[in-house]
Amino acid sequence: MIDNNCIFCKIIKGEIPSAKVYEDGEFVVFKDVEPKAEVHLLAVPKDHFPHLSDLDGERAEVLSHMLAKIPQIAAENGCVGGYRLVINQGEDAGQTVRHLHIHILGGEPLAW
Ligand SMILES: [Zn+2]
Repeated sequence: MIDNNCIFCKIIKGEIPSAKVYEDGEFVVFKDVEPKAEVHLLAVPKDHFPHLSDLDGERAEVLSHMLAKIPQIAAENGCVGGYRLVINQGEDAGQTVRHLHIHILGGEPLAW
């Protein structure tokens, strides 16, 4: 499913440019435009759904696939000493784009 008003769907369709570092049939990974760490990537499933709480069996398989690929993608993009994965759910967590995404943060020692 695609949401025509969603900025991540527009990035996936190529309507908005992004610094993509990985893409396959299930998801894309691109650089965050407002990086919070030396390396800050966003892993985004191609299927539009807003929240982790919208996960069903099929979407859980996509998420599992993403988690299996992320270590290699993180390593290839400068996360040599480790990295942190973050999913923000809802307003209190500061989720700004209502299309599920995983933040990949690293490239330097991270503070809490
Ligand atoms: Zn979307």
